Parts: sequence; C-alpha cells; structure tokens
Amino acid sequence: MEKIQMTTPLVEMDGDEMTRVLWRQIKDQLLLPYIALKTEYYDLGLPERERTGDQVTVDSAGAAKKYGVAVKCATITPNAQRVEEYKLSQMWKSPNGTIRAILDGTVFRAPIMVKGVSPVVKTWKRPITIARHAYGDVYRATEYRVPGPGRAELLYTGADGSQFCQTIYDFECAGVLQGQYNKDTSIRSFARSCFQYAVDTKQDLWFSTKDTISKQYDHTFKDIFQEIFDAEYKARFDALGIEYFYTLIDDAVARVIRSQGGFIWACKNYDGDVMSDMVSTAFGSLAMMTSVLVSPDGKYEYEAAHGTVTRHYYRYLEGEQPSTNPMATIFAWTGALAKRGELDGLPALADFARKLERACISTIEGGVMTRDLAGLWEGEQPARAVTSVEFLQTIRAKLDELLAG
Ligand code: NAP
Ligand code: MG
Repeated sequence: MEKIQMTTPLVEMDGDEMTRVLWRQIKDQLLLPYIALKTEYYDLGLPERERTGDQVTVDSAGAAKKYGVAVKCATITPNAQRVEEYKLSQMWKSPNGTIRAILDGTVFRAPIMVKGVSPVVKTWKRPITIARHAYGDVYRATEYRVPGPGRAELLYTGADGSQFCQTIYDFECAGVLQGQYNKDTSIRSFARSCFQYAVDTKQDLWFSTKDTISKQYDHTFKDIFQEIFDAEYKARFDALGIEYFYTLIDDAVARVIRSQGGFIWACKNYDGDVMSDMVSTAFGSLAMMTSVLVSPDGKYEYEAAHGTVTRHYYRYLEGEQPSTNPMATIFAWTGALAKRGELDGLPALADFARKLERACISTIEGGVMTRDLAGLWEGEQPARAVTSVEFLQTIRAKLDELLAG
C-alpha cells in the first residue's frame, strides 16, 4: 500500500514517562506504516525542558500558532519531588499552562464511548464535552485570613487616579477574605473558542453561570457570550441547525443529568474544573477522555486528558509489561490528523484517522482491552485484559482489515 501523503507538518510535542513510551509505540505500529508522517518535532520531555530552560515549550506553542494543528503527549508538571528526581535547576511551570497562555485557548474535554462500558448515567447516549475557561477567578485570586474586627473594602484606582470603593463587610470577628478578577479580553476569547468549536463539531452549546447571585461578575460572562453570539455566530448556528443557550448553573446540572448527551457545556474556570471531573468519572475511565485546546482564531492542540501514568512507568522500568490504556493518546493523533486533513484538503488523511478510531473502538467492543477498562466491562463476551503492546497489535490487525475492506 502506498503511504498517505501530508502537505503541512503537524506540530508534535513529545512528553514523559509511560505516555512517552506509548507515543513511540503508537507511531511505530499505527501511523508510520501507513502515513508519510510529516511533523515538526518538539521534545517537551522534562530533561529537554531543563536543558533549554523551558524554551522548547515556548517554541512548540509558537509552532502550533504558525501551523495551526498540534498533537501533545502528556508531560510532567514538576513539583518539589520532581525537582529532586530530575535534578532540575528550577520548578518549571506546567507546559499545558504555558501553551494555553500563548494560544489564549480553551480546553474541551470529551469521552470516547464504547459499547460495553456504559456511563453511570443511563440516559447518556452521546459524549458530553466540557469547555472550561482556564483563566482567572479563584485560580488567580488574592486571599487572606482576616485577623479580627475591622472593615474590609474593595478599592479600585483607575489609571487616571479616579477611585471607586465599596465596603465588603464590617467584620465583628476573625474571618476570611478573597478578591477575584477576570478580563473582558479573556472572556471574549473563551466565548469565541466555544462558538468556534460548536460550529466545528456541529453540536449545541450550553453556557451556565450563577448570574442571579453574581449580578456584575457572572452577568458580564453571560452578556459577552450573548453579544458575540448575536454579532458573529447566530447565522452560522442557524445554518447548521445547532443551538446556543444560556441557563443558570443550577438548571444546567439538572438538565445535563437528564440529557442524552451530544452537546458542549461551557463552564467558568472553577465550574469546569469540578464538572469535568464529575462528567469524566461518570463516563467511565480517565484513560478514555480526550482533550483539545482551541484558540479563538482556530488553532488546535490535541492531547489526552490524563497524565504520564507514573505508577505504570515505574513498574515498566522494573521490567513489567504494563497494561496502560493508549486510547486517549491515539485519539489525540487521530484528532490532529483529521483536522490537518480537513484544513489541507486531504480526504485520505482524514479518512485514515476515522478508520483508526473505528479500529480502536471495535477492538474494545470485541472484548480486547487494557486492565482499567476490563474492570468496567459489561459486554456480552468476557473481557480479555491485555498489555499495551498486545492491545496495539490487535488494533493494528483491525485497522488492516478496515483499510483492505
Ligand atoms: P495520571 O498520570 O493521569 O495517572 C493517575 C492514575 O490514573 C494512574 O496511576 C492510573 O491508575 C490511572 N490512569 C491514568 N491514565 C491511565 C491510562 N492511560 N491507562 C490506565 N490507567 C490510567 O495522573 P498522576 O499520576 O496524578 O500524574 C502523573 C504525572 O502526570 C504528574 O507528573 C503530572 O504532573 C502529570 N500530568 C500531566 C498532564 C498533562 O500533561 N496533560 C495531566 C495530568 C497530570 P492505576 O495506577 O490505579 O492503574
Ligand atoms: Mg480538577
């Protein structure tokens, strides 16, 4: 078979530990035999970030901006223990945070669904995608303990020296205090990324906040979404037959639980953090959760939602053949290849990506899976829990069948 050709390179961001091992195996087994793979390679593994003073992360984000589509392996976000383990000169920042800030993007997380691993919520038939605004609010808040009685005030001093002050509370005892902020520019980017992704994936978009209580803060989010929708996206939504609607978060959680899925739920930073953990757990396994960072000007970075699976990696180093689930990492590649195919007008590339996804899903539906899924399996035939290597081999055999047929 002749290999599928590419025109524009994918930005390839390699990573750490178990996922780095899987990355290599996925490329060797499932991509390189079929595609004349064109990538611009950046090694975001921790040793290379240390060697380059993290410049490699910044460069990779620049490349994602230039070429428009990137695929990223999970990476270690250093903590004190990692500084020791890798002899780091400093505690480098989270690569995901750095890339997100450079692309000004929003993260969309969606589960891969297979028959035999059913969501805890029985009505969910299609994926629910959570869009989390990854900037500001409680994550950038200023807070402290109030030592005792006294007045807390909220003071703004304008660039022109004008002032605006409100009493927050006259404390009669000790307590706590917190100041949060967000920026219109960031909220606008968030809104545009959400509308853009809804159009791309032809799904309804829901947005929820607590605007009844937060009449300025949350209401600003609601107003900005509505304004951008009316001015820039309403006609496109109408043409695609998809819907945007805003609802109070209390109403949203009730509707989500009763829904069949198949929509995007946009959430403020904290809501998105918490709700994405709830939704991904309810769909089954973290290893089946995909993630894509979308910038407001339509740049895409695909990855798995899980981390580098350190516990499996340490066992792998001791010679054990691990049963780590590569699904979300494979789907990061297929998402990126399909997007590249779409942007470059290469239907063969997009078609290959879809076939590879089908090969993965039908492997699991045929009863062959990694250990994490075997524990959740409710299919008719018994599950066969295999190593990552055997799992990839089974997928490859299925893929060959699909490509031949
Ligand atoms: P993790 O790598 O997601 O793994 C946590 C546990 O979840 C694993 O020990 C494993 O459970 C299970 N798991 C996750 N992915 C799996 C898969 N593909 N197949 C099978 N089981 C899977 O989270 P972590 O251990 O908290 O973090 C490890 C490193 O990843 C950290 O250094 C962190 O900074 C980094 N991280 C990176 C990203 C990213 O790059 N996007 C995201 C999160 C974390 P069992 O051990 O019970 O089998
Ligand atoms: Mg969380």
